[in-house]
Amino acid sequence: MNAQQLILKQRAELLAVLCGGGSDEPLESVLDLLLAQEVLVWEDYLRVRVAEKPLCANIRQLLDLVYDKGEDACSYFLAAIEQELAEEQKAGLCFGNGCVMVGKDRPATATSTLLADRPMLVRRLRDNIDGALNILLTTGCFSIKDCDSVQLPVYTPSQQVRRLLDQVKFKGETAAQTLLQYLEQPEPTSPISAEKENTPSADCLVYQKKLRSSVASQSLFLSTYGGTGRFSLDDIYTDGHLEVMNSSGETTTLGLEDVVGPMGTLNEDADTVLVSGEAGSGKSTLVQRLHLLWAREALLLNTFLLFPFSCRKLNAEHRELSLKELLFLHCCWPDRNQDEVFQFILDHPHLVLFTFDGLDEFKLGFTDEERHCCPTKQVPIPVLLFNLLQGTLMKGVMKVVTSRPHAVGPSLKRYLRKEVLLKGFSPGGIDCFVKKHYSDPAMATRVIESVQGNTALLGLCHIPVFCWIVIKCYQELLAGQDGIPQTITDVYLLVLQHFFQRKSSQPQSGLGKAWLAEHLDTVLKLGELALEGLQTSCYVFSGYELQRNSITEQDVGIGFLIYCSDISVNDCKRYEFLHITLQCFFAALYVILNRNNDRSAISRLFQPRNRQVSGLSQSCLGQCMDHSVEESHEAETANLQITAQFVSGLLSQRHNNLFLECCPAVVRERNVKQVVKSLSKRMQRHFKSIPRPVEGEKKSMHAMPSFVWLIKCIYELQDNSIAQDAMAKLDVEHLKLTYCNIGPVECTALAYVLKNLRKPVGLQLDNNSVGDVGVEQLLPCLPMCHSLYLRNNNISDEGIRKLLEKGIECENFQKIALFNNKLTDTCTQYFSCLLKSKQNFLALRLGNNNITSVGAELLAEGLSYNQSLQFLGLWGNKVGDRGAEVLADALTNSKTLIWLSLVDNGVGSAGACALAKFIRQNKSLEELWLNKNSICKEGVDCLIEALKMNTSVKKVWLRGNNLSPQEEEQLSQQECRLTF
Ligand code: ADP
Repeated sequence: MNAQQLILKQRAELLAVLCGGGSDEPLESVLDLLLAQEVLVWEDYLRVRVAEKPLCANIRQLLDLVYDKGEDACSYFLAAIEQELAEEQKAGLCFGNGCVMVGKDRPATATSTLLADRPMLVRRLRDNIDGALNILLTTGCFSIKDCDSVQLPVYTPSQQVRRLLDQVKFKGETAAQTLLQYLEQPEPTSPISAEKENTPSADCLVYQKKLRSSVASQSLFLSTYGGTGRFSLDDIYTDGHLEVMNSSGETTTLGLEDVVGPMGTLNEDADTVLVSGEAGSGKSTLVQRLHLLWAREALLLNTFLLFPFSCRKLNAEHRELSLKELLFLHCCWPDRNQDEVFQFILDHPHLVLFTFDGLDEFKLGFTDEERHCCPTKQVPIPVLLFNLLQGTLMKGVMKVVTSRPHAVGPSLKRYLRKEVLLKGFSPGGIDCFVKKHYSDPAMATRVIESVQGNTALLGLCHIPVFCWIVIKCYQELLAGQDGIPQTITDVYLLVLQHFFQRKSSQPQSGLGKAWLAEHLDTVLKLGELALEGLQTSCYVFSGYELQRNSITEQDVGIGFLIYCSDISVNDCKRYEFLHITLQCFFAALYVILNRNNDRSAISRLFQPRNRQVSGLSQSCLGQCMDHSVEESHEAETANLQITAQFVSGLLSQRHNNLFLECCPAVVRERNVKQVVKSLSKRMQRHFKSIPRPVEGEKKSMHAMPSFVWLIKCIYELQDNSIAQDAMAKLDVEHLKLTYCNIGPVECTALAYVLKNLRKPVGLQLDNNSVGDVGVEQLLPCLPMCHSLYLRNNNISDEGIRKLLEKGIECENFQKIALFNNKLTDTCTQYFSCLLKSKQNFLALRLGNNNITSVGAELLAEGLSYNQSLQFLGLWGNKVGDRGAEVLADALTNSKTLIWLSLVDNGVGSAGACALAKFIRQNKSLEELWLNKNSICKEGVDCLIEALKMNTSVKKVWLRGNNLSPQEEEQLSQQECRLTF
C-alpha cells in the first residue's frame, strides 16, 4: 500500500493521534518538519494554522492537503509523524516504507534558513526565548508589542518560539539575519558577557511594559478637560512653536522629536534639556505628548525607560527617599526583581529618560551647593532632584525639564545641554486647534472668524491656555453679550461665567446680570485657597485643606478644581486648579473681594520680591497678609505678577457693573487708587534707572523684565488716562526690549501704553516672538516710533503688508530693521510703495531674508522715486547680478544714500560693474559693502575705474570674493579705499 493509500485508510487514527488530548503540539511539530522539508509552503502552513478553527478541523485540512500533494508528500508526512510521536501513540499505525528526513542544501536567504532549521530552532530556543527577543528588540526589528504578542502566557514555550519565528519571517530578511547572527554566537559562558550586559533581562522587559502602560494611561487625556468633557490628547494635541537659540543668538525651529535630539546643543557634557515658556504656553502638554508617544513606541525609540515626574507633586513628598525609591514609588513599581531592574537602570543611563514638569513650581529654587551621588542613600527630595539635574547623580541619564523662564537662574543654566523655547501656537496652529475641537466644520469656521475679527483676542490665542478658554466659551463669545474680550481678565471672566452657567439650575436661560454676586461665596472660598497656595508655593491641596476653607463637593463640582489622580504619595484625594493661571485669577478675585483684607494687600502684590526667605512652606494666608513683604519668596514672583495683572483687570472700570453687588463702590475705588499708585511707583523706579546719555549717543532705556509686566497691568486696567500718566515721565529716545519674551499679547499691551508717549522713540524689539499678529498689534503705537527694530521675530510678508499700510501714514516713522525674518520678494512691493510715497524715510534693513532679483526689481522701482533713504541693507539675500544691476540703476540719482550693503548676495563681476556705473555718478554714497560675493578681478577693475571719478565713497568692502591673495594685494595698491 502506498503512502497516499495509507493516509486515506488511517485517516481517523491519524486524526486521533494528532489531536492528542487537545494539545496543538503534535500537529505543530509535524508542521515544523514539513515546512523544513518544503513539503508545505508558507501559504499551506497558514491554511492549516487557522486560530479560529478547532484543532481537528485544521488536522483534517492538513490531511487533505498532503493527500492532494501526492505520494512523496504523503511519505514525508508519515515519516514526520513517526519521528515526532511517542511510541505508545504510534502503536497500531502503519507508516509504510518510510522516507528519510534529509538535510537540504543551505538556503539562499535568512528567512528560508529559519524555515529549514525550524524544528531545531524550536528545540533550541524554547528554554531561552528572552535572549532572542532582547536582541530583536534592541536592534529595532521587534517592537515591544511584537514581544508581547510572542510571549502571551497562553502559549507553551515551543509555541512562543514558533510565534517568534513566524513574526521574524513576517518582518523580513533583516530580522531573520539578526536572529541567525544571534544564534551563531557561542552560548554566553559568563554572566558579564557584553551582550548580556547590554540587553535587558526578562524582568526588565516586564517592568518596561508595566511602565509604558502606566505612562500611557496617565497621558491619554488632557486634564483641563477633566469633568467637562474628556478630550484625548490625540484628538486635540496641536504642535506648538519650538525654537532653540545658538550661542550667537540665532534661532532655529524644532519639531517635537528634536527636543531630546542633538539640534541646538550648547553643552555636550550636560544632560538636562530645558523647555521654557510662559504660563499656559503648553509645556505640560508637550511633555505629556512626549510621554504618550514614548509609551506607544512612536517616539524616543532609543529610550528604554522613561520616568515622568511633576515638580508640583514632588512638593508633596516630605519623606527622604533614595533614587531607587523615587523611581519606583513615584513612577512605577517593579513586580519582580527590583534589584535587577534598578541595576539595569544604573548600568544603562543612556537608555533612560527623566522628565520633570514645572520646575518653576518646585518649592525651592535650584542650587548646586549640596552634592549627592549615592543612588541608594535616602536624602530630601530637593537634594535628589538638584543632583539629578546637575548630573552628579545618574550622569548620562537625559533629563527634560520644563519651567517658566524666570525660575531658571545662572546656577542651573550651567548644567543645561540646551534650552528649547516654547512659544505657543502659530496662527496656523490656532486654526488647527479650533478645527480639532469642533466636529462641525461650520462651527469651527465661525469661531475662527470671530477670533480673527478681534486682533487682541487673536493675540491672546497664541497662548494655548487662552485658546482653550476661548474654545470652551465659544457660545458666550459668539453671543458677544458683554462685548468682545480684549484683555486676559476678560477671557478669564468669560470662563468663570461659563462654568457657573454650566452648573446653574437653568443652564439654557443663562445667568442673570448678578451672576457673580450669586456665586460670591464659592468664589471667595476658592479665592482664599488659591491665594494661600500661591503664597506658600502650594498648587496641590488635600481634602483637609479644602475642608478648612469650607469648600464643598458642590464647589468642586463646578469644575475649577480637579482631582490629581496620579499622586501616589498617599491615598487621600488631592486637588489642583485646572491651570496655574486660574489659581492666580481666583487669588486676584479674593484680593479685591474679601472685605477683611488689610489695605496693603494690593500694594504688596506690586512690590519687588527679591529676598529669599526660609520656612516659606510654613507660612499661611494670615501670616502673609499681615507680615511685611520680606516674608515673600522669589519663586512666587511670577504667579503673584499674574495675580497682580488680574487684579488690575478686575478693577477696570469696564467691570464696575459686574462687581456692583459684590463690593462696595468706595472699597473698589480705594483699590483702584492703590493699584494706580503702586504701578506708578514701580514705573518710576524703572525710569530712575535710565542712565544719563553718553555724549553723542541717544538717551536709551533697556527695559527690565518687570517693565513688560507693568505695561501689561496698565493694559488690563483699560484706562487711557492711566496709560498717559505712566508715559508722561518717560523721557528717552530709544526703548530697548530685546530678548524679553515679547509675543502678540505683550505687543497689544505695549502699543496701548506706548501710543501715549510724548516724544517718538526708537523701539527695539529684536529677538522676541512678535510674529505677524504681534506686528498688527503694534500698529497703534507706530505713530510714536521713529525707528522700529524687529530683527529675528518670525515676521512674514503679510505682517509687513499691514505694518507698511499704516507706516506710510506715520510722519515720524523713518527706520526699520528686519534682519532674519521670513520675508520674500512679495514684501518688496510694499517697501517700494513706502519709498515712493514717504520722502523722509531713512533706513531700510532687510538682511538675511529671502529676497531675489525679482524683489530687487520691485524695490528698485520705489528707490528710483525716493530722495531720502540713507541706509539700505540687503545682506544675506539672493539678489545676484541682476539685482545688483537694477538697484545700482535705481540709486544712481540718489542724493541721500550713504550706506549700501549687498554682502553675501551672489553678486559677480557683472553686478560689480553695474555698481561701478552707479559710483561713477553718485555723490552721496560713503560705504559700499560687497563682502562674501563672487566678484572677480575684472569686476574690481571696474570699481577702481569708477572710484577715480568719485570722492564721496570712503570704503568699499570686498572680503571673501573670487580673488587670489596676489590680486587682492595688487588691487589694494591701486585703490586704497578697497578693503579685502
Ligand atoms: P503650561 O504647562 O505651559 O502652563 P499647559 O501645557 O498646562 O501649559 O497648557 C494649558 C492648556 O492649554 C492645556 O491644558 C490645554 O488645554 C491647552 N494646550 C496647551 N498646549 C496644547 C497643545 N499643544 N495642543 C492642544 N492644547 C494645548
